[in-house]
Amino acid sequence: MSLSSRENNIRRIINMEDRVCNCDRCKNVTPCVRKPSLGKGELEPELLLVFESESLSREEVLKLRNIIKEGLNIDKIYHTYLVRCQPKVCTSRNNVNHYSFPRLIDNDSNCLLTGQSCSGIPVPSNNDEIIACMPFLIEEIQILNPKYVLLMGDRVSMFVLKSFGYYNHITESCYEYENMKIMVTVDHNKFSDHECQLLKMHLN
Ligand code: SF4
Repeated sequence: MSLSSRENNIRRIINMEDRVCNCDRCKNVTPCVRKPSLGKGELEPELLLVFESESLSREEVLKLRNIIKEGLNIDKIYHTYLVRCQPKVCTSRNNVNHYSFPRLIDNDSNCLLTGQSCSGIPVPSNNDEIIACMPFLIEEIQILNPKYVLLMGDRVSMFVLKSFGYYNHITESCYEYENMKIMVTVDHNKFSDHECQLLKMHLN
């Protein structure tokens, strides 16, 4: 029995997520990550939204998705991340940096060094971490094959567009790749109804 396109997407996304969860390419980051960030939403999306990292609360993501839903009149939305493991700075870890640990966070998000809740301060990923993680995002976009990809912020836009062969400075707000439209917008904290109006002209 052949699988429906949705079932096929689920199977391929689960396979990719297993590899994300077992990935340790960024050895300085993964010890302090309880679980890498995974995409969520409609598995046959019309629009796939890319954030830099999982720095927004669930409520903030919902609010943004609703702005897009209403502003662009698109229901089927999936959101995901440029990098899956959020780097942090932490004095407790700095003191033991000469040791290597596979994991320092338990299932309750407590630090194994201090016995208390993780107090690391999230910082942006460096370029090496972004490049290491990029294949997962490209695979995810290819599996879900959305009509539109919406890139939030300059950093996300620059890295993703380069992966799709656009190497020059970003001068447009919409690029095409195969059957997809890749749209560029402001950072998530500046996104509003106004940006939706600007993006509308790119919708078919
Ligand atoms: S950030 Fe991405 S590439 Fe780096 S360890 Fe996590 S999943 Fe792997």
